[in-house]
Amino acid sequence: MPELVLIVLCVAGAFALGMRRAPLWAWVLGFAAAMLIWQSGALHGQPHALAQGWLGMAGWVLAAILAALCVPTIRRGLLVQPLFQLVKRILPRVSETERAALDAGTVGFDAELFSGQPDWSKLRAVPPITLTEEEKAFLDGPTNELCRMVNDWTIRHNEKEIPAEIWDFAKQHGFLGMLISKEHGGLGFSPQAQSLILGRIASRSPDVCTIVMVPNSLGPGELIEKYGTPEQKEHYLPRLAQGLEVPCFSLTGPTSGSDAATMRDVGYVERGTHEGREVVGIRLSWDKRYITLGPNATLVGLAFRVFDPDNLLGKGEDRGITVALVPADHPGVEIGRRHLPSGGAFPNGPNWGRDVFIPIDWVIGGEAMVGQGWRMLMECLAAGRSISLPSSAAAGAKSLLRNTSAYARIRKQFDLPIGRMEGLEEPLARMVENAYVNEAARGVTASMVSRGEKPSVISAIMKYQTTERMRRSLNDAMDLHGGRGVCDGPSNYLQAAYQAMPVAITVEGANILTRSLITFAQGALRSHPYLYKEVQACQDADDERGLAAFERVFADHVSFTVSNLFGALFHNLTSGWFGRVPDKAYGTAEWYRQLWRSSRSFALVADLSVAVLGGGLKTKQKITGRLADALSELYLLACVLKRYEDDGKPVGDRHIVALAARNGLWRFQEALRGTIDNFPSLPVRWLMRLAAFPLGARYKPAPDWLGHKCVELVLAPGEVRDRLTRYIYVSDNPDDPTGLLEVTFTKAVAAEAAEKKLDRAVRQGRVHRVHGTDWIGEAAKLGVISDDEARLLREVEALTARVIAVDHFDPAEVKPHYLTPGHNARAMQSAAAE
Ligand SMILES: Cc1cc2nc3c(=O)[nH]c(=O)nc-3n(C[C@H](O)[C@H](O)[C@H](O)COP(=O)(O)OP(=O)(O)OC[C@H]3O[C@@H](n4cnc5c(N)ncnc54)[C@H](O)[C@@H]3O)c2cc1C
Repeated sequence: MPELVLIVLCVAGAFALGMRRAPLWAWVLGFAAAMLIWQSGALHGQPHALAQGWLGMAGWVLAAILAALCVPTIRRGLLVQPLFQLVKRILPRVSETERAALDAGTVGFDAELFSGQPDWSKLRAVPPITLTEEEKAFLDGPTNELCRMVNDWTIRHNEKEIPAEIWDFAKQHGFLGMLISKEHGGLGFSPQAQSLILGRIASRSPDVCTIVMVPNSLGPGELIEKYGTPEQKEHYLPRLAQGLEVPCFSLTGPTSGSDAATMRDVGYVERGTHEGREVVGIRLSWDKRYITLGPNATLVGLAFRVFDPDNLLGKGEDRGITVALVPADHPGVEIGRRHLPSGGAFPNGPNWGRDVFIPIDWVIGGEAMVGQGWRMLMECLAAGRSISLPSSAAAGAKSLLRNTSAYARIRKQFDLPIGRMEGLEEPLARMVENAYVNEAARGVTASMVSRGEKPSVISAIMKYQTTERMRRSLNDAMDLHGGRGVCDGPSNYLQAAYQAMPVAITVEGANILTRSLITFAQGALRSHPYLYKEVQACQDADDERGLAAFERVFADHVSFTVSNLFGALFHNLTSGWFGRVPDKAYGTAEWYRQLWRSSRSFALVADLSVAVLGGGLKTKQKITGRLADALSELYLLACVLKRYEDDGKPVGDRHIVALAARNGLWRFQEALRGTIDNFPSLPVRWLMRLAAFPLGARYKPAPDWLGHKCVELVLAPGEVRDRLTRYIYVSDNPDDPTGLLEVTFTKAVAAEAAEKKLDRAVRQGRVHRVHGTDWIGEAAKLGVISDDEARLLREVEALTARVIAVDHFDPAEVKPHYLTPGHNARAMQSAAAE
């Protein structure tokens, strides 16, 4: 019994020291005190036999070693120096392009999650969604007007291109220059406003959204605004803002897709003649493909590698990736024909050139920025990736929910609105969750960017998570619509998004790469509190300086790991009961506690994964992919809580928050469990499992009743449904396919009571509902329904018939025009192939 007391005291002491990140000397003192108590016999009244024997000896030897390690010179010689050499060998080597990617962008709330002890005040300090009066007016004015002008079928099928009036409207109202500062003639809108405007357009037409998105994301405009010379700014920015120039950005080529930095596009610095003058310039050869707006572009932003064989710029031969502005009509520039990406109507195509001479001052930022292209791109990408695709993915998830829930209420089978059937409730509940989570994360992340952050890891999470969630919502929406979603035509409001979805998955870092390589493998380096500093120390060319830097960080890293080990074990044993909760977390305290607990587990597993796998991390993509998922779930749940609080914790949303939280925590757990179960080292696997799952995997997916409650909220008009689908374009025009849904939905809900009476009469055989009979008239005659109810039911039936109708065509009408005789349907798209 006394031993048990001592053991309990020791364990409690270890938890206290470990979790408080006590220094080594405190551990030594604690250990020595425990040894003294044990050996002195204070607990028994006489010394214990074991304490006097070899175990006691071993204990003191260990205490002596630990005590010796408290002396800096001994610690350095015995431990730090050999470890420094070992870590040098196992830590991932960071290439120049990776370093540029790592140094670009900022670290934000992601670092809090990596720390295992998130500081909630940092989350709460992110401003809620705010727009200026001018931005609001633009969203509700020109943006709505643009949306109203869109006829998706005409664009997607009949014309297969963006109509001139849409281009003109977008140019006239400054849509192409939203990110260009007012000083240079642009709208100078905040990232939050840009995100909402893009989202509203995307909810109407992915094609139209694309032509607005590209000039406002990673394109020449942003690069010139940030890095351009004064002359480039003066000349190009006003022209871009007014749409006098149509820009494109050319990075990808046939041999360099995801691995864009290995491009073969090359420029040699040499003297040449430009506009009759001899100047220093670059002779370029390139071959690009998939370039959005490329076929219509007047200004090509071009990325290529620069070599300076004669050292004309005085900085060595291999200068690295560079970005220049090349007018599309410059001699030698070849703009190819069009690709047809997923049948999309937005312009996209190849461009190429051979031995095209450009003056050096066409490089963005001029001569000084030769070789700085990759850094520039990575910096812009860190912010841009948080805005462009997440905006359309959030808007997509919201409009899919709005339209599909309306359809699921209108469409009846087996005498029931299909949305009320349990089998369909499941996908609808997923759609509710995705719409809420995507919008929560979009809003919070856009606010971060609006206040100047360029969150590189978070932007990667946002890109792959929001687009994947939209893809799931799309699949669910298609399933819910059955044949109505499959048959294309002017009345189909799903196909545009369905066709465009793979584009969102592929661009700005294809999702598999973004998940399995960028988010965690690079994220760990970026967001981990010590790892990148250790890597930098190990890669320091000066060994002494490197060792000193390593020593400073290493001790902190060890106490961080120990703290996470004890912290994770403690919070998992106590089911998160003691997790830290911010002030005024009424109604959300439990989720904060669980988030805290999960962050502890994540920090431990992430840290051990990095420490054990080292340089092998990049190739262990099933591990890094799962860790990316785990980190994402934590971030998304934090955004959900933030959104709920920013919205004033509306009572109607609390079930949705619970649904998102429970499912998110469960997915987090499964991702972490998958990581641990597949971790290549057995002892580490065991240690991780002990700390992260001491009582097994306890989170469960949200129960069925919760999903049911959430679906009920969207099967009738109301404030929760409107809040869930806020900021998208909602038509009220019954001649528009989605407007027709809105009108019919409201009337169908209003007619529900009358419909029930009619259904009952049909079931009782009093009224016959077959072609050729007037069943509503019969029911009214029998007094089953009133005349007013009959009128409403007739209206609903007429509208419903239009909602469930699908289009049909004359075969000649649907024959692709490029298959008409005489058309040369060559498929080759690159100059090389031609
Ligand atoms: C419609 C459309 C518009 C585009 N617009 C532009 C544009 O305007 N400008 C521009 O420069 N580019 C543009 N792109 C190019 C786009 O960025 C690339 O398609 C993308 O980077 C992927 O390259 P890839 O298609 O060659 O695929 P690949 O690089 O061949 O990748 C194939 C698959 O392998 C995966 N993968 C590759 N490497 C890894 C790795 N190390 N680890 C894990 N998975 C990996 C990818 O995730 C992907 O799933 C566009 C592409 C499309 C389709």
